[in-house]
Amino acid sequence: MLGSKFKHTERFNSGETESPTFPLLALARHRFFIDGKGVTTLVAGAGCPLSCAYCINRELLTRTPKPITPRELIEKVRIDDLYFRATGGGLTFGGGEALLHIDFYEALRPLCPNWKLTAETSLNVPRESAVRAARVFDAFIIDIKSLDPDIYLRYTGREIGETLGNLEYLIEAVGAERLTVRVPLIPGFNDESDREKTRETLERMGVSDIEMFEYVIRKTNR
Ligand code: SF4
Repeated sequence: MLGSKFKHTERFNSGETESPTFPLLALARHRFFIDGKGVTTLVAGAGCPLSCAYCINRELLTRTPKPITPRELIEKVRIDDLYFRATGGGLTFGGGEALLHIDFYEALRPLCPNWKLTAETSLNVPRESAVRAARVFDAFIIDIKSLDPDIYLRYTGREIGETLGNLEYLIEAVGAERLTVRVPLIPGFNDESDREKTRETLERMGVSDIEMFEYVIRKTNR
């Protein structure tokens, strides 16, 4: 949980009362220090409010999701409990937009209090989702695209307002040290100069964990 150390107990909490489901597309185990500290399992879910010109998950998002309850997910991934606890890792939710499934995470969190939960998100979601996510997730990996409103709109098909507002909110609510922000170079949409401006703005906001990288455009991304 945010603001607290993970409690290392020997048993999983069995107090599940509701069973909201997560639209599971894929699981990827044994990710070593890819999503911050520790060994993690990536849990990919369906749905995304954005329409990025080069969607890196387009093939994944065309699959038919399998609805899964929190307890069913725990059963699938608990084989790696020792890895998670020994390394400070856990589950990373992505997709798609992780923050579309807040009811599920709120039901899942008490079942695995010892695991780090990380959300991969664009933050282009209603404020209420960001507020509830701040209470559930230990870390956020934010794919910010660009902080230039015109580039953002042209690339994603949506206005940047909610993303920017939620970024400011999370910095205030959970602290910039819990955020990793990814800033891509997107061929045909931004250049080094635009990207630098985004990085400088993020640094002024207090974000220090900034990953600069370049999109490699394949036919399946278009
Ligand atoms: S945010 Fe990610 S999943 Fe959504 S359209 Fe963009 S690249 Fe695809």
